[in-house]
Amino acid sequence: MSRIIYNYKINKITDHTKQIRELDLQIISHPEFKFRAGQFVMLHVPQTDENGQPMKAALRAYSIATTEHDLQKFRLIFKFVDNGVASKYVWGLKGDEILNFTGPFGKVFFQEPPTEQIVFFNTGSGISQHFCYLESKMKQYPELKYKMYFGLRYEEDIYYREELEALKKQLPNFEYHYVLSRPTEKWTGKKGYIQNFLPEIDYKNTPTTFYLCGNGAMIKDVKHQVLEVDGFDKTRFWAEAFD
Ligand SMILES: Cc1cc2nc3c(=O)[nH]c(=O)nc-3n(C[C@H](O)[C@H](O)[C@H](O)COP(=O)(O)OP(=O)(O)OC[C@H]3O[C@@H](n4cnc5c(N)ncnc54)[C@H](O)[C@@H]3O)c2cc1C
Repeated sequence: MSRIIYNYKINKITDHTKQIRELDLQIISHPEFKFRAGQFVMLHVPQTDENGQPMKAALRAYSIATTEHDLQKFRLIFKFVDNGVASKYVWGLKGDEILNFTGPFGKVFFQEPPTEQIVFFNTGSGISQHFCYLESKMKQYPELKYKMYFGLRYEEDIYYREELEALKKQLPNFEYHYVLSRPTEKWTGKKGYIQNFLPEIDYKNTPTTFYLCGNGAMIKDVKHQVLEVDGFDKTRFWAEAFD
């Protein structure tokens, strides 16, 4: 069975940093497209052979970064990968192209009813899935204790501060921390890997759900500590690896 290919126009391109580009997209075919917070779409990256003839598209997964309450639009956050097929395509976009997607896919949903505390660990562009949960669920669950640890390398990699501050204004118990693995000496915030900050989270006594997204090595480390060492409930631990 052939899958439906959904066409999107680009409303806006935002370069948050040298390596993070966000596309604001709007559907122009099949308005019935539906997704749930936590899902991803497959971008069809056009390919040509050495004679410039069209070949089968290359498919790459991207997590929807915005609310499930507006199904006609979504934003995607891309992290640049050296020599990457999709990266080259996305960073070459001018804004007048039509993008093709299939989907939605994925089963990492926000668990309901939620626990008192929600912990988000993300690296690179992994905030996309978690931002989508927050935007989609904040009105329904404004009182939860949301804690986000956002792992990046350098100060210049920091992005989404404004967006996270805006969430903070609406969610009294939302806190977020940038954790930089290679900051300059001037950095007074958290340093190292996000997994090093597990001991400051009270997940042993407070009903908690973990959501992890991004780097596979980070996910493996946190999983080892939380599930294997601490024996935490597997049904309250959800992860999506991007690599
Ligand atoms: C479920 C899912 C959701 C995803 N959501 C997002 C998202 O929201 N935003 C996003 O930016 N990416 C996301 N990804 C990753 C994305 O699908 C691509 O793998 C990524 O953009 C690289 O594609 P590319 O074509 O540019 O590189 P490729 O041509 O596939 O790879 C080029 C080279 O880079 C290496 N490489 C591939 N991916 C990575 C990586 N992530 N980090 C470092 N090296 C890598 C490859 O091994 C290869 O050597 C997701 C992946 C999955 C599985």
